[in-house]
Amino acid sequence: MKSKGEPSFYESVQRNFDKAASLTKIPTGLLAQIKECNAVYQMRFPVKIGTKFEVIEAYRVQHSHHRAPTKGGIRYSQKVTQNEVMALAALMTYKCAIVDVPFGGAKGGVKISPREYSVPQLQKITRRYTTELVRKNFIGPGIDVPAPDYGTGAREMAWILDTYMVFKGGEIDAAACVTGKPVTQSGIRGREEATGRGVYYGIRETVNDKDLMHKIGLQTGTEGKTMAVQGLGNVGYHTAKISQEEGGIKVICIAEYEGAIYDADGIDIDKLHRHRAKTGSIMDFPGSKNLNQRKKILEIKCDILVPAALENQIKKSNVSKVKAKIIAEAANGPVTADAAEVLLKNGVIIIPDMYLNAGGVTVSYFEWLKNLSHMRFGRMEKRFDQNTYLNLVNLVERQTGKSIKQREKTIIARGADEIDLVRSGLEETMVTAYGQIREIMYRKKDVNDLRTAAFVNALGKIASDYINLGVFP
Ligand code: NAD
Repeated sequence: MKSKGEPSFYESVQRNFDKAASLTKIPTGLLAQIKECNAVYQMRFPVKIGTKFEVIEAYRVQHSHHRAPTKGGIRYSQKVTQNEVMALAALMTYKCAIVDVPFGGAKGGVKISPREYSVPQLQKITRRYTTELVRKNFIGPGIDVPAPDYGTGAREMAWILDTYMVFKGGEIDAAACVTGKPVTQSGIRGREEATGRGVYYGIRETVNDKDLMHKIGLQTGTEGKTMAVQGLGNVGYHTAKISQEEGGIKVICIAEYEGAIYDADGIDIDKLHRHRAKTGSIMDFPGSKNLNQRKKILEIKCDILVPAALENQIKKSNVSKVKAKIIAEAANGPVTADAAEVLLKNGVIIIPDMYLNAGGVTVSYFEWLKNLSHMRFGRMEKRFDQNTYLNLVNLVERQTGKSIKQREKTIIARGADEIDLVRSGLEETMVTAYGQIREIMYRKKDVNDLRTAAFVNALGKIASDYINLGVFP
């Protein structure tokens, strides 16, 4: 959506691209190829809702075919437009490059408000959308692999897989046609929390960066930092919960569709989640103050503001009211290019979406690999590792003559389960990617912010892929 006098989400992505591109030595023709969306499938299909037929508007955009398959979530929202899906697909290409996930970027969008449909109606729409994708060869383990995004989750992914199997049942790798599936239907443990967990790791890396914290007058470390989270959906909920539980971060403000709440002493995210499940709202949460408008969250004084809802939240018209020192872009495109310029001038640190929320696609990549290997991670080595560690502990006991408590033995002599490996792989990915971005920011002249550094990093990798393909000599 474009508000008057503000750049659209797509324009913001393109402007950020141009800024970074001008700081590289990549030939102009190659840059032009990287920048454009390679394939845009716009569809309209009828679905019978109650006694009437509705014509549903939907999209699938494949931004870059330099790697196959292409990959990206599917969004269900009344605000979906072709431009929005193009922006999201482009971000996916850069995101995959930043975290070294070997996919091109894609994205899907269905222009509906999921709240207005019953579950069977949503199922009907999802199955019809998938059928359109199959029909045009826009889905498949080696072609294009959707995943959840705003307004969709594991349930929709299960419907997509089931519909795909109707057409391609004999394909041995069919389960890899979509990720973010329920664990019981070829999904992977840890996918649901993955984006939020990745956001936490990215925040942790940034606040442990001495030079950056020095610039904004904050101590390093997550412990005791204050956070405000806009949107308590998949990404916002897991970010808030993990930041609180593992980082000791104090979550002082939460905004949802129905309003915002504030508590300077910190909001218990699990209790709030239960309160919302019971009452249908985050409002009137015991101990917290209701704020009169949900968008007030953007003006809260805090160390870390986490927009985890939709794009274009911080823009020219409200940027002067932002008081946070760090903006952690858990959502895609929450800060417009104009607003970002102002924030950067004011010394605010923006942790960019294309790095920060890449945990989702990273664990989707693990799920895809699991589906292709037809085996759960950890199955082969867990018991072997466990026995080896136990033998070592027993040897230490015998050599020293001292005994180790059974509880400690169990902790030391443990083989990794799937969830341990997924979290470990995700953490490694987020730490390594931050290191690469940071290195570019400090080494390269004129690269002064994390977004530009992340873009330069992505562009370098994509350009060399194209060159290796022999497309650009
Ligand atoms: P979601 O549908 O699970 O949750 C979004 C939440 O935001 C909803 O609960 C909604 O009510 C709330 N919301 C909407 N507008 C709001 C507003 N103005 N103020 C406060 N709350 C508002 O969606 P999600 O999957 O958590 O996605 C959120 C963002 O993260 C999107 O930008 C998406 O593209 C991005 N993202 C998601 C994933 C993923 O794995 N799901 C991965 C990468 C990026």
